[in-house]
Amino acid sequence: MAKVRLEDIKRRFNNVTAIEDITFEIPDGEFWVLVGPSGCGKSTILRTIAGLETATSGKLFIGDELMNNVPARQRDVAMVFQNYALYPHMTVAQNIAFGLQMRKVDQRIVQERVVNVARSLSLEHLLDRKPKQLSGGQQQRVALGRAIAREPQVFLLDEPLSNLDAQLRDDTRAELKQLHQKLGITTVYVTHDQVEAMTLADKIVVLNRGRIQQIGDPQSIYASP
Ligand code: ADP
Ligand code: ADP
Repeated sequence: MAKVRLEDIKRRFNNVTAIEDITFEIPDGEFWVLVGPSGCGKSTILRTIAGLETATSGKLFIGDELMNNVPARQRDVAMVFQNYALYPHMTVAQNIAFGLQMRKVDQRIVQERVVNVARSLSLEHLLDRKPKQLSGGQQQRVALGRAIAREPQVFLLDEPLSNLDAQLRDDTRAELKQLHQKLGITTVYVTHDQVEAMTLADKIVVLNRGRIQQIGDPQSIYASP
């Protein structure tokens, strides 16, 4: 866990300013949700935190460390995308273990983590399957498992439920909430879905045309006028 601080972050692509004046600090362990219309800069903020984009100006801190020049693979950050991107030739267990094995974590610990993660996401009985033998919801749970197995300091999710049908979305959303309550990883979550924002967020950041329009708790953001 670590706080995440953005200080006057701006990102330009050629002549287009994708985001600007982006300043906020997410305290240790909180769950923040970014909302706003398509193209307002949500993904760019997430990718900047992950190190997949470089800010044109401004500062990014994770914990007390300035991250601007730290490459993505050296950031203690895990990201989950809308389309789960599992390794098709690997089993569920191998997918969950992958990030740990890359980091040369002791095999005994890898095994323990795989078992724990599988248990917390109800995947124990699926460890030996390949992704194509799973439903969409199960695949997305594996993608979440692969990300949290590393026990990152920061967890980034870009519309992780938007490819699931309504029932699965509800179930997976509830699981995500439980997981966050259990692990307390600082989380930044992008969605279009008001129900997701309402049920998951400690704070909601409303973006519009690359700028912050409002930051507040769900009640204040969605209070009826
Ligand atoms: P959102 O995630 O809210 O839909 P994005 O962060 O993807 O918004 O995009 C914000 C703005 O930046 C949009 O105008 C988009 O077209 C632009 N943008 C994002 N990535 C690139 C890129 N690689 N090159 C050029 N423009 C980009
Ligand atoms: P590899 O041959 O690449 O090690 P495995 O499928 O044997 O791949 O396992 C990948 C990782 O997942 C290993 O760390 C292994 O300990 C763990 N693992 C594999 N199957 C299970 C299982 N059924 N229960 C718990 N952990 C497992």
